[in-house]
Amino acid sequence: MNPYPQMLSPLDLGHVVLKNRVLMGSMHTGLEETGDWDRVAEFYAARARGGVGLMVTGGMAPNREGGVFPGAAGLFSDGDIANHRRVTERVHDAGGRIAMQILHAGRYAYGPECVSASAIKSPISPFAPRELDEDGIEKQISDIVTAAVRAREAGYDGVEVMGSEGYFLNQFLVRHVNRRTDRWGGSYENRMRLPVEVVRRVREAVGRDFIVIYRISLIDLVPEGSTWDEVVQLAKAIEGAGASILNTGIGWHEARVPTIATSVPRAAFTWLTARLRPEVGIPVIASNRINTPELAETILAGGQADMVSMARPFLADADFVAKAEAGRADEIAPCIACNQACLDHTFAGKISSCLVNPRAGHETELVVAPAANPKAIAVVGAGPAGLAAAITAAGRGHRVTLFERSAEIGGQLTLAREVPGKEEFRGLVRWFATMIERSGVELRLGQEAAPDALAEYDEVILATGVNARDPGIATDPGAKVLGYAEVLRGAPVGSRVAIVGAGGIGFDVAEYLTQAGESATLNPAEWMREWGVGDPAASPGGLSEPAPAAPARAVTLLQRKAEKLGRKLGKTTGWIHRAQLAARGVKMLGGVNYERIAPEGLHISFGVAREKPTLIEADTVVLCAGQTSNRTLAEALTAKGRSYHIIGGADVAGELDAKRAIDQGTRLALGL
Ligand code: NAP
Ligand code: SF4
Repeated sequence: MNPYPQMLSPLDLGHVVLKNRVLMGSMHTGLEETGDWDRVAEFYAARARGGVGLMVTGGMAPNREGGVFPGAAGLFSDGDIANHRRVTERVHDAGGRIAMQILHAGRYAYGPECVSASAIKSPISPFAPRELDEDGIEKQISDIVTAAVRAREAGYDGVEVMGSEGYFLNQFLVRHVNRRTDRWGGSYENRMRLPVEVVRRVREAVGRDFIVIYRISLIDLVPEGSTWDEVVQLAKAIEGAGASILNTGIGWHEARVPTIATSVPRAAFTWLTARLRPEVGIPVIASNRINTPELAETILAGGQADMVSMARPFLADADFVAKAEAGRADEIAPCIACNQACLDHTFAGKISSCLVNPRAGHETELVVAPAANPKAIAVVGAGPAGLAAAITAAGRGHRVTLFERSAEIGGQLTLAREVPGKEEFRGLVRWFATMIERSGVELRLGQEAAPDALAEYDEVILATGVNARDPGIATDPGAKVLGYAEVLRGAPVGSRVAIVGAGGIGFDVAEYLTQAGESATLNPAEWMREWGVGDPAASPGGLSEPAPAAPARAVTLLQRKAEKLGRKLGKTTGWIHRAQLAARGVKMLGGVNYERIAPEGLHISFGVAREKPTLIEADTVVLCAGQTSNRTLAEALTAKGRSYHIIGGADVAGELDAKRAIDQGTRLALGL
């Protein structure tokens, strides 16, 4: 029986039939910029083999001024066509279809050459754009059309014209960036002239038998954004201009509302796609925070969209569709929407990969081949490092025994899943459990691995994790002090709390302790109220006044470093955590010395001179002061002269996170 009848049903676009309703949305991977087109081709071919109906490439610039950053990949010359053809041929050989996204960044282009409707700088870029004159606008249109024609020559099945997320075409649509008084500005008719003209001219140039997707912004989430009536007017005009499909864009990049982070409720914006669908005659695609086949099926079965776009889930698992089709959906590695190895990498100028699947973007380097010489391998510790090592090694044919002293697998992930807004970690732990079972790993829960018991194995992998660091603060009798693990496991905590340490875990604990009632991530209406997401039919851009819920406790978050708290949190998510805690009235103090913990609270002073003695009144002090490696077993094995591999927090505790742990465990197991 077909478990996902809607998701797996074909979509007839007239000249072509897509084999299912799943689109792999556009992602910038950084692969094209490496110049290694074999690697690019394999990235997409792997996903084509995995059964996705249609893929969209990362954004390709139509010209230098439109590139997201200097040197951004594009299709500038006929010479680029051969490289792109390698990608399309490999995808077609694998039975897939692929469209190239044409992305003109406008004022988001990170360089002094950037152009836009008016010379108004974006709040997220240091570069003010040059206002285009009539000839300049014509050049941009013509460059986009040329890119579409080259895409066709390169063998793509279509193009996606990027018209959302606050990029070039979107910039013309709204008054706060478009102050023009000529035929490209003023009335909405005039402001939408550019995107409509682009689609009309692209269609004219590529002919009827080529997919033209237009990505339309359904809710801008910026002041003076589009109204719903304008969105519908544009959608109809774009359909009239010849687009085959409307894909959904949510929020400009400069919006102060999260749109794809893990704390955003799943499918939080599909109500807008559902509202647009009856207004047009072409298929519409739902997007943002859709990450399971069940959810995709629900959206399609509910008539909210004709197709579902998922992007990051295809980094987490290239075989998403094939596994769903085969009734093995529980084996799909879940995208937890953390951004840690994908978007955060992009902003750091690194290749995008995936926390859950380190092979993403490294397909040609990290190849899973059967072990030439299957061995007996002991893995000690079932946190993310040990789990990744055990599953990968077993998948290659090794006989793996996994020792875990606690009663369940997951290690630090079992704490992360308790944090409101991090519910996706629950699915990750479940997936690890499924994969341990399916890969034939012998799991020994509740068992310490004694050094002598490890003698019988050919290889020993230590993933014994970390111990919470005791910061050694003088503590008076009667003071209530808890470690973060006790708190996240449900220990009673008073109503006034001081948190020692403001790393990722300090922030998580602050969110946990200020949460009153159900996590807003599980309650979309509440989440929208908290973040000020309104209805674009009622307020332009869909912004309303944020109404954060009252915090459950009064919390002070502290660190010794005299810098902004949370500076080292993820580039694309740190601002969300800071904004969330600020909205909950969490006080943030840096540059402190911890003098003493007493029953009345935490005594601190400031600076090297230990000035301004201050009492942070608190019923409970929670320690989130980082970790040290747990190497007890490693030391015992060293004393016996036994060799071992050591990975994860047991290897390096400082700034350890699941991304590094899983990557290290996977790479080690691929080399054994
Ligand atoms: P962390 O990020 O290293 O932060 C430890 C905190 O403790 C720092 O604020 C540090 O600040 C403080 N500290 C260190 N030594 C101390 C001492 N001796 N006395 C008092 N304070 C001390 O560690 P973590 O918060 O435990 O997180 C562990 C890992 O998990 C990190 O890599 C983190 O990135 C990751 N994680 C990530 C997320 C995420 O959302 N991406 C969430 C949770 C955890 P001062 O030295 O300035 O006082
Ligand atoms: Fe999803 Fe995180 Fe992987 Fe990015 S790194 S694809 S957000 S799981």
